[in-house]
Amino acid sequence: MSTAPAAIEPRHSNFSPHEKPSWDLYSRCVHCGLCLDQCPTYRALGTEMDSPRGRIYQIVQVDAGRLALGDSFVTHIDRCLGCLNCQSACPSGVAYGSLLERARAQIAENYKRPWLATRLRQHFYADILPSFHRLATHARFIRFYQRSGLQSLARATGLLKLLGVAELDALSPRIDSKFSFADLGRVFPAEGERRGRVAFLIGCVASVAFAELNRATIRVLTKNGIEVHVPAKQSCCGALQMHAGLLDLARMQARRNIDAMLSPEFDAIVTNAAGCGSTLKEYAALLEDDANYSGRAREFIAKARDINEYLAEVGIREPRRKVNARVTYQDSCHLAHAQGIRTAPRQLLRQIGAQVVESSRSDSCCGSAGIYNVVQNEISMKVLDEKMAYIASVEPEIIATANVGCMLQFRAGVERSKMKARVAHVVELLDEAY
Ligand code: SF4
Ligand code: SF4
Repeated sequence: MSTAPAAIEPRHSNFSPHEKPSWDLYSRCVHCGLCLDQCPTYRALGTEMDSPRGRIYQIVQVDAGRLALGDSFVTHIDRCLGCLNCQSACPSGVAYGSLLERARAQIAENYKRPWLATRLRQHFYADILPSFHRLATHARFIRFYQRSGLQSLARATGLLKLLGVAELDALSPRIDSKFSFADLGRVFPAEGERRGRVAFLIGCVASVAFAELNRATIRVLTKNGIEVHVPAKQSCCGALQMHAGLLDLARMQARRNIDAMLSPEFDAIVTNAAGCGSTLKEYAALLEDDANYSGRAREFIAKARDINEYLAEVGIREPRRKVNARVTYQDSCHLAHAQGIRTAPRQLLRQIGAQVVESSRSDSCCGSAGIYNVVQNEISMKVLDEKMAYIASVEPEIIATANVGCMLQFRAGVERSKMKARVAHVVELLDEAY
């Protein structure tokens, strides 16, 4: 099977010209297959078309006009986690993430999904995520369902199982009492001598479901002498829209965050979510054709930092107490594969006294992948079960990670595998140590 045709006639392509997966991206694939064993969907399904090489092959075929941009193509591209495990493994330097983004942009533009799916996508990506106000309104409804007894009733009566949504219900995050939106516009002073000043991205879903993690992040930064600003006009980073191929919506979010957070007064722009961090660092590529923003986007990404990366860079102060526990750190794909950050979280954990135990495939995807565990629940659970078996083999007391989506997925994994381990973000463990 050749994935690198000598030439493709543009007039035959089943892609439209805008945001097209291009020959210079896919022709690097020499179909060696070294990425196959690294691909969680290939390991779960065992089919070439659900492997990185197979997906690249299908992209080439659509571009050559030999495969329709239809149901089959969309199915296999939809099944991709976007975890970039394959990109790290590829010896030829195939930029799989860029290829996938463009393939998904083509699907968003040229493929007609069922009416309900289209409406739900539009509502979620275009109406809810870009507006903190609308997000908070929806979150309050979910909180009412969770706390009024309705959720317990639906679980106890088996209604959720009957409707086939019990797995999804188990994955849904618990909505917090106090959202992070209350902190917009606030400044948190550094404790002791000031060593830095940062802008903090609170995130969209994290602000309603992981607000305590956001508060812990602010506490850890201020304890370490960092002044934290929460710019009022910031917005969701655009990651979920970007991964869905809705690049113009992601660009809109990127411009809003650049306007709100890029300032000479900040040494860094910090996030505690690996998925958001990798998207912030893609703003320059996303806006490269925008004459008004391309230069500022480059300045922005030069300051964008994951919290682990930032704390390792500035160095943390001695904690008040140690975390005396066996901790396995499970790399978040968007930290390890998209940002190349593997050492910093492990280093921080050791600095607070954790006994870090390494499992096999610690950098393989857990199956969370944004909303993948909701829309591709069956495959996601297969990927998760494999991951939990590797984790169980090192008998951890704590499973640490660096992304809120991974935390939810691991909590579901602990429940499914009846493991006695707690799931925590690295920052939560730092917060406890201080
Ligand atoms: S490892 Fe790289 S070159 Fe080899 S098949 Fe996978 S994507 Fe292609
Ligand atoms: S991004 Fe992940 S799921 Fe998709 S092809 Fe690569 S390794 Fe497989």
